[in-house]
Amino acid sequence: MPVKTLPFDRELIERIAAEYPTPFVMYHEEGIRKRARDLNQAFAWNDGFQQYFAVKATPNPHILAMLAEEGNGADCSSVAELITCERLGITGQDVMFTSNNTTLEEFKVANDLGAIINLDTPHHIDQLQQLDRLPEMVSFRFNPGPERQGNVIIGDPKEAKFGCTREQIFEGYKACAKLGIEHFGLHAMVVSNELNIDALLQTAEMLFELAVQIRQETGVTVECINLGGGIGVAYRPEEDEVDLEAFGNGVKDLYESKLVAADFPPVRLMMENGRSMTGPYGYLISKVINQKGSYKNYVGVDACMSNLMRPGMYGAYHHISVLDKQDQPQDQVVDVVGSLCENNDKFAIDRAMPETEVGDIVVIHDAGAHGHSMGFQYNGRLRSAEIIFNDAGEFRQIRRAENFDDYFSTVDFNAVKIDRKESATSV
Ligand SMILES: *Cc1c(COP(=O)(O)O)cnc(C)c1O
Repeated sequence: MPVKTLPFDRELIERIAAEYPTPFVMYHEEGIRKRARDLNQAFAWNDGFQQYFAVKATPNPHILAMLAEEGNGADCSSVAELITCERLGITGQDVMFTSNNTTLEEFKVANDLGAIINLDTPHHIDQLQQLDRLPEMVSFRFNPGPERQGNVIIGDPKEAKFGCTREQIFEGYKACAKLGIEHFGLHAMVVSNELNIDALLQTAEMLFELAVQIRQETGVTVECINLGGGIGVAYRPEEDEVDLEAFGNGVKDLYESKLVAADFPPVRLMMENGRSMTGPYGYLISKVINQKGSYKNYVGVDACMSNLMRPGMYGAYHHISVLDKQDQPQDQVVDVVGSLCENNDKFAIDRAMPETEVGDIVVIHDAGAHGHSMGFQYNGRLRSAEIIFNDAGEFRQIRRAENFDDYFSTVDFNAVKIDRKESATSV
């Protein structure tokens, strides 16, 4: 069986766990920074290229700050995400607001920050007119419908609620130009968690062709094209990561054949990756607390689906290593489970693992995106701490674990009275 290597050892885990009990998520600083640099490097040929980190993947301010240091902007889709940026001083065109089913209030917050407004539909143009001032730059989200296939996370494009049709795109640019908006972008987000470069390149090709068409149909020339996010994570050890350099070069070839060849003026490319920027560099650290055999064999850990819901929600594979046992024979087949009263609270089903004992440290890989951020409090399970560590073996907590005061902070027990009726207590 292939293994995934770990950029830390038991000694570091023990030092962290002595201060912050398991479960917790730990993020590898150099891993995240290198990924950001590699992506920028792959697109260095494009003047003004910018990656906007999709905040929803890992909305921790320390991580956003680190990514901002590496040149990332922020892709937001809610007021809370916009406020996070505002507090960090990430403003103006370093913020992309890509939302759907949006309210006027949300557009106001985004526009006050000076964000690029990425419209899901021309229906939202009415809302733009109600803002104090028009956005500096507007883009539209294209949904190719039956022309493309999509995948499980984002859905089949023609069934997906996101974006608008080609006709609506033309109509949208014309209406915005008429209103006096001067700067335009174009956007699509068709696939997510895609490891196949060809599928990612199809989006670039589709958007480059569309930009030329928009120019012909509407007279609007887009200044930037946002290829969306969607670069996948090699969750399974036998999968290969996306070769960013090959991807960047593939986009460059299309840029030349579709845009330069059509005499299109220079376009700034953008991406808004979330998952691939932090996913592989986050580890959910948990401990074996129980083992049992009934009709199957179970390894019970102290993390549960509320720390990482991807396996429970989409049956997603997350690799699991038992610390210091990676080289041992994987001769037990088990379900690795949390303690929620839901049978899909399982990190793995029928997984071959080495023999485990209570107290073993279990590392759940690729938990750095859509892990903590999808957390919830069902069954009174609380969100864990987040820790960042580096190659020098230093670590710091970047979000504390929730406590019971947090859990109960939204109810007022003083306002509750149990009115026990005589009849209920006496027989
Ligand atoms: C979620 C999302 C992203 C990030 O997608 P990844 O697959 O995590 O890279 C980018 N853009 C939009 C609009 C999104 O909703």
